[in-house]
Amino acid sequence: MIIETDVLVIGAGPAGSLTAKHAALNGADVIIIDKKSEIGTPKRCAEGVSKEGLKKLKIEPSTRWVTKELSGVRLIAPNGTSVWLNDEKVKLPEAGYILERKVFDKHMAMDAARAGAQIMIKTIANGLRRDGDSLIVTAESMGEELEIKAKIVIGADGPESRVGRWVGLKTAQKPKNMESCAQFEMVNVKMEDPDAIEFHFGSTAPGGYAWIFPKGDDIANVGLGILTTETDKSAYEHLLDFVKNNPATQNAQPVEFNIGGDPVGGMHKELTADNFMLVGDSASQVNPLTGGGIISAMEAGVYAGKVAAKAIKEGDYSAKNLSEYQERCEENIGVKFERDLKVKDYLQSLSDEELNSIADAFQDIELDRINPAELIKQLIKVSPKALLKLGKLF
Ligand SMILES: Cc1cc2nc3c(=O)[nH]c(=O)nc-3n(C[C@H](O)[C@H](O)[C@H](O)COP(=O)(O)OP(=O)(O)OC[C@H]3O[C@@H](n4cnc5c(N)ncnc54)[C@H](O)[C@@H]3O)c2cc1C
Repeated sequence: MIIETDVLVIGAGPAGSLTAKHAALNGADVIIIDKKSEIGTPKRCAEGVSKEGLKKLKIEPSTRWVTKELSGVRLIAPNGTSVWLNDEKVKLPEAGYILERKVFDKHMAMDAARAGAQIMIKTIANGLRRDGDSLIVTAESMGEELEIKAKIVIGADGPESRVGRWVGLKTAQKPKNMESCAQFEMVNVKMEDPDAIEFHFGSTAPGGYAWIFPKGDDIANVGLGILTTETDKSAYEHLLDFVKNNPATQNAQPVEFNIGGDPVGGMHKELTADNFMLVGDSASQVNPLTGGGIISAMEAGVYAGKVAAKAIKEGDYSAKNLSEYQERCEENIGVKFERDLKVKDYLQSLSDEELNSIADAFQDIELDRINPAELIKQLIKVSPKALLKLGKLF
């Protein structure tokens, strides 16, 4: 069987659903497919999003999918020294709400359907070929072979994306750019402040960090991301050590285990080809510093959906005409990521001892005095070597 549409979106995560919604709202015929039987399940996420990010996207937080509103962040050095930040004084990335992704992703897909997109669940894209000025995607839907002919195909197929490669885009990730993550959702977690998310730095999670994101009561996502280039142990082994040694998780029990890759090397250079665009994790649109990609995936989805619908109206699906999407992503997402990539490299260059002394110094600083000048002053004081490393990166 072959079906035809203007726009085919492959993947119904946050990137795909927002793309489908905005393409449909702007007049295109849209099909969105996902290989999952239930959109959003299983989750592969610590579920933190910034309040500012949702506001910018005009998405009203709903009690259906927000499990927890946060008021702060606790940064923990390898020796246990904590720096507490609160959201009145510092804009906190990926820290405002904790979602229930299984519900959130479904709701974003429902919004796409309400805007007019057709959803096909349990439908996996297996390949793609060119057919004149269209692309034909071969898929299996509910066990049946299917072909979908589309004027524009949008790859929103997540961190292990294959779709971009089918049209010749360079999307392979080097190991040093892919965090390997492992996480338990746990009960009986006893956090010092259950309204703050925790980031643990240093050799607990080589090349990344460990986190505890509270979901309410005594429930939390407890996980970490590592770079396989920085350690011989697996993310799972590091997670077991973290859970064993952390005071908050001494009596905690896992109710769910998640593993997944998180692309942290900055946005891919090429996001479009003729009749084609990439969004979300498949385009490596993840903040390299925090590993958070929900908001940027959705922001890129808005751009992709609008540009796709415009191209359909114009009858021009060439890479050149779709390049407006690339420009908007570079301007609004890529530039910030380039900066955050440098900060990440800097953090990764610090030893446990340097992290400990920086945390010691920052414990005593008034929060509203945290600005670049103050930061550098404190760094000179605690670790001229650390400052030298910072200088080399910028
Ligand atoms: C452990 C972990 C913790 C994280 N924590 C956070 C966090 O706290 N905050 C944050 O902002 N980000 C976090 N992230 C990143 C975040 O999960 C992603 O950036 C986000 O999900 C990207 O959305 P997406 O729509 O691009 O991809 P995804 O959410 O991965 O969606 C891709 C979809 O494509 C479907 N798909 C794939 N291949 C095919 C195919 N061939 N055919 C049909 N369907 C297909 C999949 O089933 C999936 O539903 C975390 C990631 C990990 C691994």
